[in-house]
Amino acid sequence: MNAPITRPVPRPGILDIAPYVPGKSKATGGAKLYKLSSNETPLGASPQAIAAFHAAAATLELYPDGGATLLREAIGKATGLAPERIVCGCGSDELLHLIAQAYLGPGDEGLYSQYGFLVYPIAIRAVGATPVVAPEKDFRTDVDALIAAVTPRTKVIFLANPNNPTGTYISFDEVKRLHAALPAHVVLVLDAAYAEYVRRNDYESGIELVSSSENVVMTRTFSKIYGLANLRIGWIYAPDHVIDVLNRIRGPFNMTGPAIAAGAAAIADREFTRAAVDHNEIWLPKLAAGLEAIGLKVLPSVGNFVLALFPDRQGKRAPDADAFLLSRGVVVRRMEAYGLANALRITVGSAEANETVIAALTDFLA
Ligand code: PMP
Repeated sequence: MNAPITRPVPRPGILDIAPYVPGKSKATGGAKLYKLSSNETPLGASPQAIAAFHAAAATLELYPDGGATLLREAIGKATGLAPERIVCGCGSDELLHLIAQAYLGPGDEGLYSQYGFLVYPIAIRAVGATPVVAPEKDFRTDVDALIAAVTPRTKVIFLANPNNPTGTYISFDEVKRLHAALPAHVVLVLDAAYAEYVRRNDYESGIELVSSSENVVMTRTFSKIYGLANLRIGWIYAPDHVIDVLNRIRGPFNMTGPAIAAGAAAIADREFTRAAVDHNEIWLPKLAAGLEAIGLKVLPSVGNFVLALFPDRQGKRAPDADAFLLSRGVVVRRMEAYGLANALRITVGSAEANETVIAALTDFLA
């Protein structure tokens, strides 16, 4: 006989979720703190976004515009996309969860790639569906493995392109090949959180595929290149029928007024974005080369971070390096949650931060 139930119990799947652990924000030593653990930008936010945020303080007693019209129109103006096919969210995280809520349930499978962003299994389990993982090859999404993992139960595929934490990407031809192999009822989510940083001719964020099909959506964020992670702003571009579904289930006021105002100003400030891309163009290769020069293996990244693989040597593994970096004031991201215990993810920081991390790891490995 089953024991009597004495308190509320969440539905199946919820307690299988390993809570998402955000990047640390404190070090144990060092004169100065260098936070390179959450892929934030070292350049702060656009001065125009900050001014818009301050101006929004004048009306904090009023509910925001539930449709985030100003922001959707600003995104439309900057990207050429129809504002009617955009929904904004409290970070792209909220939109990933809403897609799972709308299209997955018990008995369904949500599919993602081996080192895919950890919010995917959380969003899948939270709605009682089953996470299915397709293996990667050389830390890169393997389209054939994803296609092979599709079953009649598959309802959503989450694909981060570029992926976090590996930094690797797949070409638009590969994305199209994946899409072509999917049944029409499967939602393909292209999570393009780092798209603005990519400088590769064969890369596309996926806009064209969303526009030309009924089962592809693209999510984007203001947390990375726009430097507004603290305001929690994401958006999704999707077919009309998906937009309709998301607008039915989202919170009626899921965006705050200060976020709407600051986001609209941020995306209009092209000079700021250009400076952020330029900084990354210079420092991503320099950081990777600096780490390779001291013997670490660095995955080829197109984002604003690198994944460094450590030697399998006593005292020189990733957790040892993490402790050493913390003692020098440098905070990076441990990767145990991704099954990559001997790797650290390091965000491209300011010139000083990047030089500090390279110098510290040089001492560590000496
Ligand atoms: N997708 C990917 C691949 C990410 O790395 C992140 C940020 N860690 C997000 C989505 C979520 O970003 P946000 O909720 O801040 O928009």
